[in-house]
Amino acid sequence: MSLSQVEGQARAIEPLKRALASKAVHHAWLFQGPDGVGKELAAVGLAQALTCPEAPFEGCGACSSCLRVAKRNHPDVTWLMPEDELVNRGLAGRSDFTHVPSRDIRIEQIRKLQERLAFRSLEARYKVALIVTAHAMNPPAQNALLKTLEEPPKDTVLVLVTSAPDKLLPTIRSRCAKAQFGPLPAPLVAKLVQARRKVADATAAQLAAMSGGSLSRALTLDVDALAERKAIIEKFEALVRTDARGWLHLAEELGEDRATAEAALDVLQAWLHDVAVAQVGAGELVNGDLAALATAAAAKVTPAGVQRRAVLLDEARNAITARNGAIRLQLERMFIEMFSA
Ligand SMILES: [Zn+2]
Repeated sequence: MSLSQVEGQARAIEPLKRALASKAVHHAWLFQGPDGVGKELAAVGLAQALTCPEAPFEGCGACSSCLRVAKRNHPDVTWLMPEDELVNRGLAGRSDFTHVPSRDIRIEQIRKLQERLAFRSLEARYKVALIVTAHAMNPPAQNALLKTLEEPPKDTVLVLVTSAPDKLLPTIRSRCAKAQFGPLPAPLVAKLVQARRKVADATAAQLAAMSGGSLSRALTLDVDALAERKAIIEKFEALVRTDARGWLHLAEELGEDRATAEAALDVLQAWLHDVAVAQVGAGELVNGDLAALATAAAAKVTPAGVQRRAVLLDEARNAITARNGAIRLQLERMFIEMFSA
């Protein structure tokens, strides 16, 4: 896998390719955009381009050097991420730590990186540091990294990969060249889903439509929950302003556990998209089989109302995913704000 194989992200990749072609690569890059759209893949591609002996400034993706970059064991490519991310990815076990694995990238990790970058590269011309989940750097870590960005060691390229650039210091952001990644087109997500998950065409299309353009989201969506889709949508559409017990009952039902709640919110997010499409009268429905219900729903609420519900859904989903707060309470709050206003 080299940079040219990252799909659906021309806007982010073209400037990188141009920088590589000019052999004048900026010393720090910010790869920003939603989760699961190829930022990390592109970061690997850039690291390969900077270290590949076969295709310098391109990366062949196939030589021993490129393969070791992809497998995270090239001596000139350093990966940095929070300890709990290492655990989540199965790259470390909880027992590897004497403490609870940290969710932050800590200053000690930045200092270690700086010590490594102070030395010459071992094999390649460049040393590359990939800071994944860069927004997890806590304030002391960010301040420490700033020094490296201000006075970069020779032949060093840092790549900060993040879905939340706002959590980085403005002084860090301003010193980085930016590569802006966007949501992937649904047909591409469907194609990539099918390459990895044994699902029918229609299911892949549905997962893609519900993924918000994120491959990782599409790959983790619950296929069984798709079967519940129609029931969830019908229950949601049956909610009315005058029946608070109805909202609370549905919150209880959908808030049974995190997976159920997340799947239900994905269904409803796609549904609100369909309602908005029905209001405009143009566009493709995710739930093509529920077109009549979408038209009926579109007549019951204003476009601004649909937009507001979508925002509330998104907030609830984020809160539940971030694991702060009881799931059912988040859903209750969401329904109350949707239907009592
Ligand atoms: Zn190579």
